[in-house]
Amino acid sequence: MSTVTEAVAVPQPVADLESDGLLGVFPEGPRLVGTQCRACSRTMIGTRIVCSDCVGTDVTRVPLPTTGLLYTYTRLHVGAEGVRALGYVDFEGDVRTLTDLREDTGPLEPGIRVRLHVEGDDWWFAAAPATTEEKETDS
Ligand SMILES: [Zn+2]
Repeated sequence: MSTVTEAVAVPQPVADLESDGLLGVFPEGPRLVGTQCRACSRTMIGTRIVCSDCVGTDVTRVPLPTTGLLYTYTRLHVGAEGVRALGYVDFEGDVRTLTDLREDTGPLEPGIRVRLHVEGDDWWFAAAPATTEEKETDS
């Protein structure tokens, strides 16, 4: 006597975000990976196969800017690791990411400009001190 179990086809959700890491290599260097929709111009974080806005599939992989604005942050007190800062960074084009933050280049405060730092596979954002390059906006 045997029992036959038939496989039932269960509809699976379509993943729009691939599980690859967010760090990618571009001609300009290591950058966080974004996806831009050619149909509606929306930019999203990560490698996606469909647009999160219009569900279009005409999407392309793009590098995200290396600087953004710190939306908000918190400090986690994690056992022996000590204090870990974690926050949201907003990029141009309405893109937001959750990221590790470091406080070695300046104090953190919502609204400040932060810059991407990469070391091997590790990446984080830290305060970006104002430079002459960023002050030249009226040329
Ligand atoms: Zn779209």
